[in-house]
Amino acid sequence: KRVEVPQAEHGIDPALVDDRALKVVATLHEAGYEAYIVGGAVRDMMLGLRPKDFDVATNATPEQVKGLFRRAFIIGRRFRIVHVVYGRGREHEVIEVSTFRAYLDAAAAEQVAGNEKTSKAELSGKSHVVDASGRVLRDNVWGPQHEDAARRDFTVNALYYDPQTQIVVDYHGGIADAKKRLLRMIGDPVTRYREDPVRIIRVVRFAAKLGFEIEPKTRAPMRDCAALLEAVPISRLFDEMIKLLQTGHALASIAQLRKQGLLGAGPDAPGIFPLLDAVLADAGRNPARAAFIDAALADTDRRVGEDKPVAPSFLLACLLWHEVLVGWERAKAQGEPPFPALQLAIDGVFDMRIGDISGRGKLGTDMREIWMMQPRFERRSGSTPLSLVEQPRFRAGFDFLRLRADTGEVEPELAEWWEDFSLGDDEERRALLDLAR
Ligand code: ATP
Ligand code: MG
Repeated sequence: KRVEVPQAEHGIDPALVDDRALKVVATLHEAGYEAYIVGGAVRDMMLGLRPKDFDVATNATPEQVKGLFRRAFIIGRRFRIVHVVYGRGREHEVIEVSTFRAYLDAAAAEQVAGNEKTSKAELSGKSHVVDASGRVLRDNVWGPQHEDAARRDFTVNALYYDPQTQIVVDYHGGIADAKKRLLRMIGDPVTRYREDPVRIIRVVRFAAKLGFEIEPKTRAPMRDCAALLEAVPISRLFDEMIKLLQTGHALASIAQLRKQGLLGAGPDAPGIFPLLDAVLADAGRNPARAAFIDAALADTDRRVGEDKPVAPSFLLACLLWHEVLVGWERAKAQGEPPFPALQLAIDGVFDMRIGDISGRGKLGTDMREIWMMQPRFERRSGSTPLSLVEQPRFRAGFDFLRLRADTGEVEPELAEWWEDFSLGDDEERRALLDLAR
């Protein structure tokens, strides 16, 4: 079953390999261990893309790996891995090194979990725990490479590339699937969705991102298995939703969710992401809001495509803006002055949509700032404009205003004025302030 594929056949351009990843592999080899680049990086290189990050898999334990590098940190509990760090500050780069893991079916895993209870001392890195529905909670039993391959999700995600010999090790026909542009689950899809229901979302994400077809047996049980996502912690689901929207293929991801029946179809048939359901249902009733949401998603996709940073706070502020507006109007109608009314509306939206995942302090603060800036953009006189442009989050607030202008919510002229004002020197700014009077 282990197939070693030479460069001529897999066609990976060695120039796509990151120097640091190469160094990590070489260091492990010199110390006598097996080491490969693995996962998404190999898949992306096979498709001719430059990977954004590199994972390395090895038969060395985390402690052994740590001992070989100057700056290496063992992290994670559910899944212990080593971060090998190069460079400092903004330029720093992390290569993730994970030890080959055993693939345990639910029964074997329960046995390990049982043993673990009796001998807590053995817990050090050797545990694999499942819950009643077969969901894997912890995954730290080391094993041979072929088992490490079998526990990965898709065939194209289970390729091992040795950058020194340029050989790819393929146990599950991942190279053939990559050439066919096919996303195929390794093993029995239903079992794999039970072990980790988030794999259902990963299917959507990779199908949208890679433009792959989903192999029929992989696709068939997705919708029925979606109910298993209820057992997944809300914070992990939220993270997956953000990932889905920041692949650079957010619009395609939403289309794919819809295609797989994973979006809500009314109050009796909720989808897997209630927040998205609410946003899309509202957009469905209101073309102007649909335009705003589409513009925000398209803008995010464009930025990712251009390698520009995207902030989850900005996108979420866009997605939830209509609800803020509705709440704001309501509070004003009840006699609240504009600013307190906006505060109230924002509190309401946080309670309703983000409540369970509070503790995301920065995300919430940034969203609030973007929203609170919007009415201040209406004031183009006095000291407001200057204090606004000097605010650290001005850029995000202004980008938000521009999206509103682009989709007809406010006058295009308003966004233009702010653009000129933010770029202008003192004299130009004075002139603009006079002009607005
Ligand atoms: P991306 O480019 O989006 O980061 P990726 O393939 O690198 O894609 P990661 O989430 O970074 O995805 O995971 C790295 C690798 O770990 C995957 O390629 C896969 O082999 C394995 N993996 C990650 N999550 C799972 C999972 N839930 N079930 C099985 N294998 C997984
Ligand atoms: Mg990755």
